[in-house]
Amino acid sequence: MRTNQPRTIYLSEYQVPAFLVDHVDLRFELFEDGARVHSTLSIRRNPEFPDQGEALVLDGDSLVLESVQMNGEAVPENDYQLKGEQLVVPGVPDRFELTVVTWIEPQNNTRLEGLYKSSGMFCTQCEAEGFRCITFFPDRPDVMARFRTRIEADRAAYPVLLSNGNDVDRGELADGRHFVTWEDPFPKPCYLFALVAGDLVEKRDTFHTCSGRDIDLRIYVESRNAQKCDHAMDSLKRSMRWDEEVYGREYDLDIFMIVAVDDFNMGAMENKGLNIFNSSCVLASPDTATDAAFQRIEAIVAHEYFHNWSGNRVTCRDWFQLSLKEGFTVFRDAEFSADMGSPTVKRIEDATLMRTAQFAEDAGPMAHPVRPASYMEISNFYTLTIYEKGAEVVRMIHTLLGPELFRKGSDLYFERHDGQAVTTDDFVRAMEDASGRDLSQFRRWYEQAGTPVLDVSDEYDADKGVYRLKVQQRIPDTPGQTDKQPQHIPFALGLLGADGADLSLALADSDTEAPVSRVLELTDTEHTFEFHGLAERPVPSLLRGFSAPVRVHYPWTRDQLMFLASHDSDGFNRWDAGQRLAVDVIQALEGQADDGEVDARLIDAYRQLLNDATLDQALVAKMLNLPSLAYLIELAEEADVQALHRAREKVLTTLAETLREDLLACYHRNDDSGDYQLTPEAIARRSLRNTALAWLLHIDDAEACDLARVQFDRASNMTDQMGALRALVNSGFAAERGEVLDGFYQRWQDDPQVVEQWFSVQAASTEAGHLGKIRALLTHPAFEWTNPNKVRSVIGAFAGQNLSEFHQDDASGYRFLAEQVRRLDDLNPQIAARLVAPLTRWRKFAPVYREGMKTALEMIRDKDGLSRDVYEVVHKSLAGS
Ligand SMILES: [Zn+2]
Repeated sequence: MRTNQPRTIYLSEYQVPAFLVDHVDLRFELFEDGARVHSTLSIRRNPEFPDQGEALVLDGDSLVLESVQMNGEAVPENDYQLKGEQLVVPGVPDRFELTVVTWIEPQNNTRLEGLYKSSGMFCTQCEAEGFRCITFFPDRPDVMARFRTRIEADRAAYPVLLSNGNDVDRGELADGRHFVTWEDPFPKPCYLFALVAGDLVEKRDTFHTCSGRDIDLRIYVESRNAQKCDHAMDSLKRSMRWDEEVYGREYDLDIFMIVAVDDFNMGAMENKGLNIFNSSCVLASPDTATDAAFQRIEAIVAHEYFHNWSGNRVTCRDWFQLSLKEGFTVFRDAEFSADMGSPTVKRIEDATLMRTAQFAEDAGPMAHPVRPASYMEISNFYTLTIYEKGAEVVRMIHTLLGPELFRKGSDLYFERHDGQAVTTDDFVRAMEDASGRDLSQFRRWYEQAGTPVLDVSDEYDADKGVYRLKVQQRIPDTPGQTDKQPQHIPFALGLLGADGADLSLALADSDTEAPVSRVLELTDTEHTFEFHGLAERPVPSLLRGFSAPVRVHYPWTRDQLMFLASHDSDGFNRWDAGQRLAVDVIQALEGQADDGEVDARLIDAYRQLLNDATLDQALVAKMLNLPSLAYLIELAEEADVQALHRAREKVLTTLAETLREDLLACYHRNDDSGDYQLTPEAIARRSLRNTALAWLLHIDDAEACDLARVQFDRASNMTDQMGALRALVNSGFAAERGEVLDGFYQRWQDDPQVVEQWFSVQAASTEAGHLGKIRALLTHPAFEWTNPNKVRSVIGAFAGQNLSEFHQDDASGYRFLAEQVRRLDDLNPQIAARLVAPLTRWRKFAPVYREGMKTALEMIRDKDGLSRDVYEVVHKSLAGS
């Protein structure tokens, strides 16, 4: 356990490191009962540090110190101190070698930070502060060193020994042991260090780079997964090519390796030359992984690969700059995914995540700027704000500069800062210097938390043919931040005429060549834009393509939304208009008695969507999804979860009953017995078919139940099998539900990734996921408390997705979550802290829920020996109450 008292760390207190490390020589002796780590650091004083007499301070965590040597001589115990978790050596010379030997116990490491064991193999996770759990080191990203790593282990149990860089030496040792030495020629911060030792098989391939070099590509997995690497390997090669073509970035080492690990706190980690992946983010075959999993794997492989430049070659000066690498890299992987599939669908998915989850974070007690000013535990800042909003900020720069100038800016950034640890400000400055644009006001996106709100109103002057659009911006207060300054917002829009066509956007009468879509720039709290030469009052299409992460308020009528949903030339806004219409209908039904009617216009809109085969079917598949309960909660002032759930259910039931024949026709039309393909068209077909099935089973349609049974038995891919399973699990057919769940488990019980899906489909189901059932899943033989994926697939899915079951007015769901967080806090604080999230926004909910949520937070707060991770989230959530 950590013994530190939680302490707040401030960006304003940043100081350059007192010492620099030029070289790190590591030797790992790996055993079953622990590991001995010999570390020799070549250290020198940093000439830029003000106090040249400063003592050497190295970070450590859960280490047993065996010995300290300086320049080959033992340092007497009186000449160094262990203060808290730090090793302090006063009176050191300006330049010296320090050798430290530590003993650690990877086999007992359930936090999964530093060196630990997963399914019998040794592996590491050092970001953000895991390296200090391996040896004493100045564990901060602005200390960059060259690493040489020798790994020694039993040859039979651990035939594969991997670290960063190139394999430079190997040989045999006594007692059946062997060693391999790796050398990484690129200086790197210690958070990018990686080590793997295990009994693994490798899948190999080659990539031919733009300059003509051949890169050896290897994916390491346990032998049972040998057939599941093709998709990740193809994704890797596509990513490498794309980064050469779009950013001019070539890979630098001769080897690139990926290792799949079952127990992993995150999705994947971009360690230099040796990426370590959560198995669920790398392993796929059509019969075991859904379309969504295939797409996620492609995106994550790309993301981690892209980090080689945006993160590894140019890294963060300190952890406040985390979005420097994450925001930019998420933007890069989003553009890659858009190029590989449907750009509109990708944009809809990203905007949905932003509006449902990031806006919620931005309005809650953990709200923080893209570049935070303070934190207690950095692990808590791997957030949607840093990643997704950070990516939106980079996207806005791309929108403001245009693709050519943005590329000039990224070239300058990589050229200027290669091999350095820098700040978000350095990134923006490179963009400014390359483009000649002033982004000083734009920088507020990095400094101010909270989601800007745009209030839009309009008027039409028929005599002059002028349409005026007034846009006001305001940014809500967030913890520690009030009276915010207006931000620089790219606001894309179009205007539609009565025939549905785009009108010219002439900002003056003389403007005869005006475009039909524009990006206006908002910089003041209020702007009025005039559009000239309009013979009729237009319908505005605002924030096209979700051009900024803001909320837009405009008094659209339902007829206008219907009109936009069928005519807008911007696919994103077409989808958005449908969502707004559905939200409006659901909100109007909330709190009404059962005889409230569902607006016939919504039913017509869905009928059109289901029957018009000329529409982009990938977009239709997205448009058919009703707004989620999570999104409806986010939009509510004071969320009454059960009332919103009932209203949404009423709309869904009405749509399914009224459109039964159309849904059956849609189901059969999209029947596809051909080979499994991962094209946008094929994905859309499966999605439409499974959505139709889900809706029909929602109303317990007997014919659909038979269809689902047949689909479940005969499916040639996991998307269709899971579609049938999910539909049946969410239906009222209890006997069938039990049968397919048992059958699915029997068939897939030896495949952990599929078993995770089996857990989550139940935990997220309003029909199958009652609290009693959730508790039963926790005692299921396949459930493991020490495996983060299993914890997420049961507890995370219940509290995060099964909202109508979680938010019970007797607070039983909240107490359940508090119990599990308390239990997990001792095993894995990072995972425990993330599970608290659903409780943090207790103030947002109607009184009947609020008290129960607050009490659950207090239950967690009162646990003895609470970790720093959970402490921070709980205390910030309860602050001021
Ligand atoms: Zn990343």
